[in-house]
Amino acid sequence: MHEYGLAVGVVAAVTAQVPGRRIRAVGVKVGARSGVEPFALESSWPLATEGTAAEGSRLDIERVPATVACSSCDSVTEIDEFFDYTCPQCGEIVMDVRSGAEFQIAYADVDDGEGDE
Ligand SMILES: [Zn+2]
Repeated sequence: MHEYGLAVGVVAAVTAQVPGRRIRAVGVKVGARSGVEPFALESSWPLATEGTAAEGSRLDIERVPATVACSSCDSVTEIDEFFDYTCPQCGEIVMDVRSGAEFQIAYADVDDGEGDE
Protein backbone atom coordinates (compact mmCIF):
# COMPACT_ATOMS: atom_id res chain seq x y z
CA MET A 1 0.00 0.00 0.00
CA HIS A 2 1.64 3.14 -1.35
CA GLU A 3 -0.24 5.58 0.92
CA TYR A 4 0.54 3.58 4.05
CA GLY A 5 4.25 3.95 3.34
CA LEU A 6 3.82 7.67 2.82
CA ALA A 7 1.90 7.99 6.08
CA VAL A 8 4.69 6.16 7.94
CA GLY A 9 7.21 8.55 6.35
CA VAL A 10 5.19 11.59 7.44
CA VAL A 11 4.94 10.28 11.00
CA ALA A 12 8.69 9.59 11.10
CA ALA A 13 9.53 13.07 9.76
CA VAL A 14 7.23 14.87 12.17
CA THR A 15 8.19 12.92 15.30
CA ALA A 16 11.90 13.34 14.46
CA GLN A 17 11.46 17.12 14.45
CA VAL A 18 9.85 17.27 17.86
CA PRO A 19 11.30 14.36 19.85
CA GLY A 20 9.42 13.41 22.96
CA ARG A 21 6.47 15.65 22.14
CA ARG A 22 2.93 14.54 21.60
CA ILE A 23 1.55 15.25 18.10
CA ARG A 24 -2.06 16.40 18.01
CA ALA A 25 -2.55 17.00 14.31
CA VAL A 26 -0.56 16.92 11.11
CA GLY A 27 -1.38 18.81 7.94
CA VAL A 28 -0.22 17.63 4.53
CA LYS A 29 -0.56 19.07 1.05
CA VAL A 30 -1.52 16.61 -1.63
CA GLY A 31 -1.34 17.72 -5.24
CA ALA A 32 -3.97 16.55 -7.70
CA ARG A 33 -1.25 14.96 -9.82
CA SER A 34 0.95 13.67 -7.00
CA GLY A 35 -0.35 10.11 -7.40
CA VAL A 36 -1.42 10.12 -3.75
CA GLU A 37 -5.00 9.15 -3.02
CA PRO A 38 -6.16 11.38 -0.11
CA PHE A 39 -8.76 8.89 1.09
CA ALA A 40 -6.25 6.04 1.21
CA LEU A 41 -3.80 8.27 3.04
CA GLU A 42 -6.41 9.17 5.61
CA SER A 43 -7.37 5.52 6.07
CA SER A 44 -3.72 4.60 6.65
CA TRP A 45 -3.22 7.24 9.32
CA PRO A 46 -4.46 5.38 12.43
CA LEU A 47 -2.29 2.35 11.66
CA ALA A 48 0.74 4.42 10.67
CA THR A 49 0.63 6.42 13.92
CA GLU A 50 0.01 3.45 16.19
CA GLY A 51 2.61 3.25 18.94
CA THR A 52 4.16 6.61 17.98
CA ALA A 53 3.92 10.10 19.51
CA ALA A 54 1.34 10.85 16.85
CA GLU A 55 -1.03 8.10 17.91
CA GLY A 56 -4.60 9.42 18.05
CA SER A 57 -3.69 12.54 16.10
CA ARG A 58 -5.72 14.07 13.32
CA LEU A 59 -4.55 14.20 9.72
CA ASP A 60 -5.60 17.29 7.78
CA ILE A 61 -5.30 16.90 4.05
CA GLU A 62 -5.19 19.98 1.89
CA ARG A 63 -5.77 19.19 -1.74
CA VAL A 64 -3.72 21.30 -4.13
CA PRO A 65 -5.20 21.67 -7.58
CA ALA A 66 -2.91 21.15 -10.54
CA THR A 67 -2.48 23.91 -13.09
CA VAL A 68 -0.70 24.09 -16.41
CA ALA A 69 0.47 27.03 -18.46
CA CYS A 70 0.24 26.84 -22.23
CA SER A 71 3.40 27.94 -24.00
CA SER A 72 1.45 28.76 -27.13
CA CYS A 73 -1.48 30.91 -25.95
CA ASP A 74 -0.35 31.71 -22.36
CA SER A 75 -3.56 30.46 -20.77
CA VAL A 76 -3.39 28.85 -17.34
CA THR A 77 -5.77 25.96 -16.79
CA GLU A 78 -6.69 23.90 -13.76
CA ILE A 79 -6.36 20.21 -14.59
CA ASP A 80 -7.12 16.85 -13.05
CA GLU A 81 -5.16 13.58 -13.02
CA PHE A 82 -6.54 12.64 -16.44
CA PHE A 83 -5.15 15.67 -18.21
CA ASP A 84 -3.62 14.69 -21.55
CA TYR A 85 -1.28 17.64 -22.18
CA THR A 86 -3.57 19.27 -24.71
CA CYS A 87 -4.42 22.94 -24.13
CA PRO A 88 -8.21 23.34 -23.84
CA GLN A 89 -7.91 26.87 -25.25
CA CYS A 90 -5.87 26.35 -28.41
CA GLY A 91 -5.27 22.59 -28.72
CA GLU A 92 -1.50 22.90 -28.45
CA ILE A 93 0.20 19.81 -27.02
CA VAL A 94 3.19 21.12 -25.10
CA MET A 95 2.20 22.49 -21.72
CA ASP A 96 4.07 23.32 -18.58
CA VAL A 97 2.69 21.70 -15.43
CA ARG A 98 3.11 24.33 -12.72
CA SER A 99 1.65 22.71 -9.62
CA GLY A 100 -0.19 19.66 -8.43
CA ALA A 101 2.71 17.22 -8.14
CA GLU A 102 3.47 18.12 -4.54
CA PHE A 103 3.22 15.92 -1.52
CA GLN A 104 4.50 17.76 1.53
CA ILE A 105 4.02 18.26 5.23
CA ALA A 106 2.31 21.62 5.80
CA TYR A 107 2.39 21.75 9.58
CA ALA A 108 2.34 19.73 12.78
CA ASP A 109 0.27 20.67 15.79
CA VAL A 110 2.35 19.68 18.79
CA ASP A 111 1.22 19.44 22.38
CA ASP A 112 3.19 22.13 24.23
CA GLY A 113 3.12 20.12 27.42
CA GLU A 114 1.99 23.10 29.51
CA GLY A 115 -0.85 23.01 31.96
CA ASP A 116 -3.20 20.19 32.84
CA GLU A 117 -6.07 19.48 30.56
ZN1 LIG B 1 -2.97 27.10 -25.46
